[in-house]
Amino acid sequence: MLQTTLTCGKCSSADLRKNGSRKEQPKYQCKACRHQALFEPAAARKAAQYAQVEKLLVERVSQRAIVRLTGVARPTIVKLAKKSAGHAPVAPQAPPATGAGVG
Ligand SMILES: [Zn+2]
Repeated sequence: MLQTTLTCGKCSSADLRKNGSRKEQPKYQCKACRHQALFEPAAARKAAQYAQVEKLLVERVSQRAIVRLTGVARPTIVKLAKKSAGHAPVAPQAPPATGAGVG
């Protein structure tokens, strides 16, 4: 089973308890600061972060800049860069063997 870690949006504490639900989504309350919200699971937050990383990679922003902008670790960015290079028309280190008619 996929383990998702929820954290408080106010104090980023992971000490939460379930507190009812709203629109079929579980609602949580932070035990530390009593902040109550529909906490977003880490998986969804990461997916949004990775989407932003891929967008920045397309814009040819340097990997170190992406680390600063998104907070995603550099090895993860390298992994995403390789993944996006697989299906993107521009491959950074590929020899011009096949003519990609883009541009
Ligand atoms: Zn809190």
